[in-house]
Amino acid sequence: MTETDPDPVTNLAKVRARLNAAAAEAGRAGERINIVVVSKTYGPDRIAPLLAAGHRIFGENRVQEAQSKWPALKAAYPGVELHLIGPLQTNKAKEAAALFDVIESLDRPKLARALAGAFDKQGRRPRLFVQINTGEEPQKAGVVPREADAFIAECRKTYEFEIEGLMCIPPADEPPAPHFALLAKIAARNGIENLSMGMSGDYEIAAQLGATHVRVGAAIMGARSSPIA
Ligand SMILES: *Cc1c(COP(=O)(O)O)cnc(C)c1O
Repeated sequence: MTETDPDPVTNLAKVRARLNAAAAEAGRAGERINIVVVSKTYGPDRIAPLLAAGHRIFGENRVQEAQSKWPALKAAYPGVELHLIGPLQTNKAKEAAALFDVIESLDRPKLARALAGAFDKQGRRPRLFVQINTGEEPQKAGVVPREADAFIAECRKTYEFEIEGLMCIPPADEPPAPHFALLAKIAARNGIENLSMGMSGDYEIAAQLGATHVRVGAAIMGARSSPIA
């Protein structure tokens, strides 16, 4: 894994360079791949230098934690695009709809219904990615691959959602490439353009297999001391 500098802005530049180089090897334009800087567990003082340097795309995995730091940061730095990358409970749909710009973890009909209601009430409509549990891990969120097409179709038909992308978190103990390839395949057959895949340990592989968004935390922000995964 990348060794990290105390300065997140330096780390972001290194990750960007490696990402672009990996993409180029696969004949892809790496500059077009979005880096979602995962800022979970880190406070505003650690995030602000990245905002000041011009970075705008960030990811958080918990609604409550994001609510405690992002309203002020968003007010101070216009143009932030905040992604929810963690599981979303239906009773937090309203808060999520109010704060996030992209929800990457849509994964079940009950949540789709709750979000549709929240969007109508708030008049605010975050962009949506569907999370796929490519490894079919029981403890992990996401639609299992065999149910993905039907769920995407239901989101489109019943709720008139535009599904912008798919997201996956491969099993920690398996090579990620087959999972990234599976995500790309499900996206292609459903006419979905964006793929959120790749984290600190495997974003270069993801870049080669079609990622449009990589979610990178530790390699930019530094190792997390808190047990929050
Ligand atoms: C924490 C997290 C990441 C970032 O992981 P790192 O290994 O720190 O890069 C990416 N995606 C999700 C869903 C996460 O929860």
